[in-house]
Amino acid sequence: MFVIHRLINVLLVILPGWVWAQRVGEPLPVWQEGQLDIHQINTGQGNATFVVFPEGTTLLIDAGAINSMDWRTNKPRNIPTWPNNERQAGEWIARYVRNVLRFQQVPVIDYAIVTHFHDDHMGTPLNVAKRSKGGYTLAGITEVADFIPIRKMLDRGWPDYSYPRPMDADSMVVNYRRFLTWQQTKKGLAVERFQAGRADQIVSVKSPSLRQKYPFVVRNMMVNGELWTGEGLRTKRLFPDLSLLKPAEYPNENMCSIAFQIRYGAFDYFAGADLQGVLQFGAPPWHDVETPVAQVAGPVDVQLVDHHGYPDSQNGSLLTSLRPRVLILPAWAASHPGRDVLERLFSDQYYKDERDLFATHLLPEAKTDIADLLPRLKSESGHIVIRVEKGGKTYHVLVLEDRSETYTVKAIHGPYRSR
Ligand SMILES: [Zn+2]
Repeated sequence: MFVIHRLINVLLVILPGWVWAQRVGEPLPVWQEGQLDIHQINTGQGNATFVVFPEGTTLLIDAGAINSMDWRTNKPRNIPTWPNNERQAGEWIARYVRNVLRFQQVPVIDYAIVTHFHDDHMGTPLNVAKRSKGGYTLAGITEVADFIPIRKMLDRGWPDYSYPRPMDADSMVVNYRRFLTWQQTKKGLAVERFQAGRADQIVSVKSPSLRQKYPFVVRNMMVNGELWTGEGLRTKRLFPDLSLLKPAEYPNENMCSIAFQIRYGAFDYFAGADLQGVLQFGAPPWHDVETPVAQVAGPVDVQLVDHHGYPDSQNGSLLTSLRPRVLILPAWAASHPGRDVLERLFSDQYYKDERDLFATHLLPEAKTDIADLLPRLKSESGHIVIRVEKGGKTYHVLVLEDRSETYTVKAIHGPYRSR
C-alpha cells in the first residue's frame, strides 16, 4: 500500500504539466494558480471579456445582448445568438463564466465593468420579457448577475449618469440603474465610477501572500475623454468644455468608452472598447481619441481591437504606438471589420513586427468584401482565450469551439514571448 502511495505521489509531482497541457480536440484545461486568463466570449451579440487574474480575482468587462433588435430603429437585426437562440446572450455568458470558475466552490465575479452604454456592451431590455425579482429586465449584464453574483460594478456614469447629457430617457440605462439599486439593497453590490489614472480600483481580493506572489496591475487609462498622462494620478481632458459646444456636437457614446491596461510581469493587454480614431471629414481633431490613449499605453502584447474593427477605428497612429503582437477582433455585425481596417492591421507601414489576428465571429456578409484577406486571419470564429503562464513571460492563444458548450480547443497558437 505504502509503495502505491509513494508511486501516486511521485506521479502527482511529475504529472501536472502533462495533465494540464492544452490539446487540440480536448476541453480547455481549468485555470491554474499563477496563470492570467483573458477570455473573449462569443455569443454573436456583442462584447464580453472575462478575466481570471493570477491569484484568482475575477473581472467581467461588458456583457452585450443586442437581442436581435436595433435599439436605434426598433427593427429586427436578424443576428442569431450563439451557440443558439434557446437562451439569451447574458445566460450564455454566465454559463461560460461558470465553466471557467469551476475551480471555485461558489462562482463569484469580483468586478464587472460596463465600458459604455450601448446594447452590444451592456444588453438592451428592448424586446425582452425576462424579469428579475427586482422588477428590472434581464438582458446582458443584468442577466449575468442573475446567475452569478457580482461584487462590484464600475461604469462611466455613476452616480448621476449625466455626462455628456442626462440619460434619463435611455431605456438601457434606466433598466440598468434599477438593477443597480436593487442589487445594492438586496445583494450588497458595490458601485463605483471608473476613474481615469487610478490603478487601485481593480485590485486583488485575495490574501496578502497571494497578492505578493502574483502581482498584477489594472491601470485605468481613459473614460469620458479623460486620459491618464502616464504620471502619478494626473489626467487631462481631451474633450472641450461642453459649454463651448452645441448639444449636437457633444462627444458621442463610443468616444466616452472606458479604456484600461492589464500588466502581469512583462505581459501587457490593452482594451479600449469602442474608441474611435479615424476622423470623418470636417470633424474636430478631438474626435480622434485613439491616438492620445495609445501614446500613453505604449507597446502591448495583446490588444482588443477598438470598435469591433468598424471603419472609424484602429488608426495608424494607434497601431504605431501599441504595436500589438496579438489582436483580438470582437466582431458581430456585417460591418466588422471594415476592409480599410483590416488592411491597416496587416500593413507594415505602421509597425514592422509580426502579428496575429483572431476574430470571434465574422458574419458571412462581412466576409464577401474581405475574402482575399481572410487567409491572413488566424481564426474567423470561436471564443478566444489568452492564457498567460505563471510570471507573465509567455502566453498562448487558444481558439475554442463556440457552437456548443464543450469548450473544445480548436487551435493553439504560441507560445508567444511577452515583450
Ligand atoms: Zn460596440
